[in-house]
Parts: sequence; structure tokens; C-alpha cells
Amino acid sequence: MRTVINQGILVDPKNRIFSKLNIAIENGKISNISKYELIGDKVIDAAGLIIAPGFIDLHMHEDDYDPEKDTFKLDIFNCMLRMGVTTAIGGNCGIGPDEPDVYLDAVDRLGVPVNVGLLVPHGSLRKKVGETDRYKKIGLDNIKKMRALTEKYLATGCGGISFGIRYIPGITEEELELICGAAHKEQKLVAAHIRDDAQNVIPAAVEFIEAGIKMEVPLQLSHIGSMGAFGQMGELLTLMDEYYLKGTDIAADCYPYNAFSTKLGATTYDEGFTKRYPGGYSNIEIAQGQYKGQRLTEDLFRKLRKEEPELLTVAHVMKEKEVDLAMSHPNVIIASDGLLNCSQGHPRASGTFPRFINEYVKDKKLLNLYQALEKITYLPAQRIGIDKGSLDLGCDADLVIFDYEEIRDKATFAEPTLPPEGIRYVFLKGEIAVKDNKIINNNLGKSVRI
Ligand SMILES: [Zn+2]
Repeated sequence: MRTVINQGILVDPKNRIFSKLNIAIENGKISNISKYELIGDKVIDAAGLIIAPGFIDLHMHEDDYDPEKDTFKLDIFNCMLRMGVTTAIGGNCGIGPDEPDVYLDAVDRLGVPVNVGLLVPHGSLRKKVGETDRYKKIGLDNIKKMRALTEKYLATGCGGISFGIRYIPGITEEELELICGAAHKEQKLVAAHIRDDAQNVIPAAVEFIEAGIKMEVPLQLSHIGSMGAFGQMGELLTLMDEYYLKGTDIAADCYPYNAFSTKLGATTYDEGFTKRYPGGYSNIEIAQGQYKGQRLTEDLFRKLRKEEPELLTVAHVMKEKEVDLAMSHPNVIIASDGLLNCSQGHPRASGTFPRFINEYVKDKKLLNLYQALEKITYLPAQRIGIDKGSLDLGCDADLVIFDYEEIRDKATFAEPTLPPEGIRYVFLKGEIAVKDNKIINNNLGKSVRI
């Protein structure tokens, strides 16, 4: 079966292509790119539409897998697919499956909406060795056991390691370095939600970067908008640039919203947060449950933090100009940090990529389309080390076809899973997964072993 897509505008930053071309797919792979119209068994007319490599989300929070029922709770992966993502990397912020190898095997056995890769989540390692107190500094014996587990998961194809230092303040320099070191041999990526944000972000970034330099591993500063868009973004980007110029392999990611999201029970809301974030309680919205849509008061905070620590919140506290600064920096990749709980949460899970194009290219004109697509295709693929994110001949035909005028996010804080508009087709390995913003096959995704 040969599928051809004619007359579209191909944008493939890896190969420096931005022109009207025709493309053929055979056996799930890109088999031809030509300036002449192509003939096939199935012909798609893409006149006036943009054809790009499927978007790659370097930082998201994957759907749960239930090993007893052998099923995935499909929620966020569907949202990913509808916004043009074909490969998503989970296990971020130190949070993820208890057994990443079992998870990836289940993805291959059952099929999910998008291709899935994982980082080894440091938080799961701690659980596995029986360390459940997040404030505790743990002993060398258990750190060594965690290191062995990390090596095992990396060997089964996890693409790197992720830390949520903010969420586990008991992490010491020794623990950070020993676990980081597992990524050295194959130069896999080490990402972190660093220890602190706002006024305290610079020393927190330095702590992580210095550990990575010592262990000689590639580093990724996670969602820097929510770490430094409180007046520190210029300084944070300069710090990253300085390290980069000295030879440190470092990049960052960011999502295009001025609000962050986390659980009410997270350490983010430990003593002192009302001083760190402007507006205190009143800028923090409850994102699910009985109080959904309400802003916090001190009383409500105390009650819910005790009774429902898993409740997702959204904190409307970042400065738009500072997020803009991060989004347009050449060494910042766009990633969703998508996180949902029972289809509730932050709209970034369903809106990030269409919003990025609509707002940053079309409205604010901070980037052109080519630069924007590079940040969501080739750059994340290169960063995590996968042979995707391009239209190379012979590559998996993971594609997104969209209408530049129509593409926009529709998800809101009230309705965080509304699908975007303007996504005409999403292909995974040459098969149509989305047509006209609607999922028609959500079973094409396989594991991505790195
Ligand atoms: Zn995080």
C-alpha cells in the first residue's frame, strides 16, 4: 500500500526543507519526497496545508498502567495525539511508573495512542527501595540499590533519568551524583525539576548543573517557565548560556502558559509558598473535584491539603513576558508537562503545541513557523536521542498535517481536555490516527527504546 500526500508545504527543519513538495509513504516509512505529484493507492490532497514531522513531547506525564488488569487508563495520551504529538516522553519530574520496563513492554503488547518513551523516574526508585519519607536523606546502601535499578531500566531502553528534587527535598549531593552517573556511559539525558523556584531558582539550577558536570552527563532543566518566570528568567537563561559556552551539554524546556500545575499535597505548597508566589492563596485555583474553579483561601488550603493531597491545582503566578523570553530562546524546547487526573488539570495537556504555533508564531510573532517547528520536532528528538522528528527517507512516517490559519488550542482551565482545531491528519507509521481533529485509531503507538 502506497499513500501519497500531494501539494502540501513540507516543513522539516532537520533537513532544512520549507517548500511545496509531495511525499510518499510505503510500509510505514517515508519512501519518497518529490517536487512532482506522486501516484499511490491512496492519495491525500494537502494543498494549502503544512506537513511536518509529528510533534515530539519531551516532557509529559504518561497515563497509568494497571498491571493486574493489563490495561492503560487512556486519558492524556489521547489528548497528546489530538494535538499532533506522535511521540511522548514520560517519567518526568521524578514521577512515573514503578517499573518502567514492565510499562514499556505493556505499551508494545497493547498499543497506545502515541509512541511512548520513558525516563527513569527517580521517585519510583526511592519507593522501590522502601524509602517513602521525601524529606529523608537516605543511606549509601539504598542509593547503591537505586543506582543498580537505574542501570537496569536504562539497559531496557529508558532514554535517561529524571529527578523531582523539588518533590523530594531529602535528595543529597551524593544521591544526585550517584544516580546521575548511571547515564554517563551512553550519554543519556538527565532532566530535573530543580530544588527551588522564583527567588531561589539560581542556586537550585547551579546545584543540578554542577552535579551533572561532575558526572559528565547531558542535562535538561525542566519546565523553566514555572521555575524562573517570576522575574528571574533573564538571569536563568544567561546562567544556562554561560554553562553552554563553557562546554556543558545543557538545554531546557518550557510550556506556553503563565500558570503551573501541581498536586495540593506536593512540597511546592510547603511553608513559605505564599511569599514566593505573587498573590498568595488567591492566585491558586483548584483544578478538580467539588471545589473545581475556586481560588484558595487559607482555610480551604489547610482543609484540602490534609483531606485531599492528590487534588490538582493550577497556580496563576508567572509573568507572561518572562515565559515569552524562555519560549523564544534557541536552547529551549517546547514541551507540555501535561498532567491530568481523571481528565482534569491544566489545559497544557491538550493545548500546548497548537497554542505554541497560534500564539507565538501567528499572534506574537516571536518565532517564525520554521523555528517553531524545529522546537517541537527535530530539537526534542535530538535531545532525547531518537531517530524521529524529521522527514528523512526511510524514517517512520509519523506526520502531522495542519491548517496554519486554523490551528489553535481550545482547551481552557475550565475545560482542560477540549481538542484543538486545525489538525487535519496525524499519521503514525504511515497509518491515519487523527482526521479532522478526531481520533480514528488510538492503538498505533509503540514503545520507543533509546
Ligand atoms: Zn515538574
